[in-house]
Amino acid sequence: MVDTFKPQSLQEAVDVLSDKGAILFAGGTDLMVQRRRRGGLIPDFDRPVILIGHLKELKEISNSTREIRIGSCCTYTALLSHKAVPEILKTCVSQIASPGIRNRGTIGGNICNASPAGDTLPVLYALDASVILARDNKERVLPIEKFIKGPGTTVLEADELLTRIIIPHSSFNKFFYKKVGTRAYNALSKISFTGLALKKLRAVEDVRIAFGAVSPTVVRSKDIEAQIRGKDIDAIQKMIPEILSHYSKLIDPISDQRSNRRYRKTVSLNLLNSFLKNYML
Ligand SMILES: Cc1cc2nc3c(=O)[nH]c(=O)nc-3n(C[C@H](O)[C@H](O)[C@H](O)COP(=O)(O)OP(=O)(O)OC[C@H]3O[C@@H](n4cnc5c(N)ncnc54)[C@H](O)[C@@H]3O)c2cc1C
Repeated sequence: MVDTFKPQSLQEAVDVLSDKGAILFAGGTDLMVQRRRRGGLIPDFDRPVILIGHLKELKEISNSTREIRIGSCCTYTALLSHKAVPEILKTCVSQIASPGIRNRGTIGGNICNASPAGDTLPVLYALDASVILARDNKERVLPIEKFIKGPGTTVLEADELLTRIIIPHSSFNKFFYKKVGTRAYNALSKISFTGLALKKLRAVEDVRIAFGAVSPTVVRSKDIEAQIRGKDIDAIQKMIPEILSHYSKLIDPISDQRSNRRYRKTVSLNLLNSFLKNYML
């Protein structure tokens, strides 16, 4: 039998975590799959478990003039019904799994699981999100790209938990989100594409481009975005071959049971091409 703790506050969760080095269990939709055993056996939790999905401090969403702060244990369903959550994040979340999983799965679980196919990750990278990590009386804030190190690995210490996600407000008037899976719903991503732009008259004042599931971590290049930013749409159309060639060097997919390397790379570049040609105009 494994010890299970159900703390009554965030402070209590942090205290138990520092003492026990336990497994944090939010919605459990990744953990129950990862730790499953053959039929009839209970999942294999080899360390104490701390349930955190019910903690109200981790389920709050607050909105200020500068940013929105999302509690790590907000479920996808909660995100979909909150008016301050950016539209592109809602579009992404609405395509994750099925209603039952969206009622349990949390944004914090998706981030901490750090799967290359985690759907919220490219959107959070594109929105310049940061994460707040808490441990015994201390907090640190990291940009999401510094939090995730590689497939399934983050910089989270054994006594730390992710409490909130900060998304600075930004204004974009063009967005294109595309998840490519085997089915329209209840499928993991073969590829996902996030494109955001702020276009004023004929100039693109801001742009963000991110790809999911095509490299060990999300592909986003602030350097290439800087080359596009401030340009006239005609100039951008002429730059398309060069932009595609830059991203082609960064996109490094694997072949696995969901898709193969060639398909992932080709479709990624097609989606980028479509964003630059159709959404910037
Ligand atoms: C049928 C099915 C379909 C799915 N479809 C999709 C999909 O379309 N797209 C997608 O991206 N994912 C999908 N998933 C994966 C999963 O639902 C998501 O990744 C979900 O967001 C995980 O959240 P959770 O709260 O259930 O995480 P949990 O399983 O509770 O935790 C996941 C990991 O994060 C850690 N963790 C959780 N919260 C914290 C925290 N606050 N601080 C520190 N560590 C923490 C846990 O210890 C664990 O290691 C699917 C899963 C299933 C079972």
